[in-house]
Amino acid sequence: MVISAQGQSPCMESIAAKVERGERLSPEDALFLLGSSDLVSVGRLANRVREERWGNRCSYNINRHIHPTNVCVFRCTFCSFYRKPGQDGGYLITPEEAVERVRGMEGTPPTELHMVGGCHPTARVDYYASLYRAIKAEFPELHIKSLTAVEIAWLARVSKKGFREVLLELKQAGLDSLPGGGAEIFAKRVRDLTCGGKATAEEWLEVHRVAHGLGIPSNATMLYGHIETNEEIVDHLFRLRELQDETGGFLTFIPLAYHPENNAMEISEGPSGMRSLQVIATSRLFLDNFPHIKAYWVMLGLETAQMALWWGADDLDGTVVDEHIYHDAGATTPEALTVSQIRALIEEAGREPMERDTLYRRVERRRDLTSTPGVGSPSSTPTAP
Ligand code: SF4
Repeated sequence: MVISAQGQSPCMESIAAKVERGERLSPEDALFLLGSSDLVSVGRLANRVREERWGNRCSYNINRHIHPTNVCVFRCTFCSFYRKPGQDGGYLITPEEAVERVRGMEGTPPTELHMVGGCHPTARVDYYASLYRAIKAEFPELHIKSLTAVEIAWLARVSKKGFREVLLELKQAGLDSLPGGGAEIFAKRVRDLTCGGKATAEEWLEVHRVAHGLGIPSNATMLYGHIETNEEIVDHLFRLRELQDETGGFLTFIPLAYHPENNAMEISEGPSGMRSLQVIATSRLFLDNFPHIKAYWVMLGLETAQMALWWGADDLDGTVVDEHIYHDAGATTPEALTVSQIRALIEEAGREPMERDTLYRRVERRRDLTSTPGVGSPSSTPTAP
């Protein structure tokens, strides 16, 4: 993407006029918003767009995380989660263990299982297919959102298969959607310095393009607050917007705030709350073709996540039990929120909570049947934008 130096420079008034007319913002506009010290005006514009689409509601889902393996062949400098092959503490769970974990989940039955992990040297497509089949055999209604584009690209590389073939096999085994992880920052400069060797930006985008073509929806992320520049953030958003124009397969965009602990990066601070709000608001305004912007409380912290609901975000992540990737990196948020806690957070922020499933359909539950997995299964109904 080339940011043009020609034409009239954007200002808050010209951008507000575009928002008023429903006109698409340019990369120069996004760059201006990211650099503006008038955070209140940026937030007001983003909130306007957010409320035009979703009114006062804020969605959340009830999910659980399972990391099938923490062993990874890569060495991303921002990662606190991985173990090298052969290192103490590395693991690869079996399909039976995965099913056992789902069976043992306490609390309100989840609608979604989020499964991501490292790029294991020997686990192949058939390993993941066996996990999904085993889980679906006992929990057919549970939506499996699994494998980042980086993991899919790694499976394709070691299996000498194309992305389409890998995704088709996994879909047939029970994969329902892809999470948005592994995007980091698309700029080659940043990738070379932080996560060289794993999937390139082009590969990440291609995996999602192919997935969308196969009817597998997905999310997109961006890891910000480390060595990236504002231009590189805009480039990242621009590439996502272009792909979404082409496929329409992204459900939500999730800006991920960098956490500095237990990794090889020599940066001692993550982004401030103000910076996070600015990135979230700019994303809402620039990604006009993304239905949802998520405030991922695990990384933002609960207070900033609440604020983000007035800076463009319309969704909080779920109840998230057993999350390790960001907690190992120093996230000080709780490892789980109960449904009552997440609803209270949303209500305290002045929004109306709505449980959704992975596809953003409203979930109706019988409140008297919510304690045992598999019992009192929720039903989903489509919700109008
Ligand atoms: S971020 Fe993912 S690919 Fe990179 S080292 Fe960690 S687990 Fe491996």
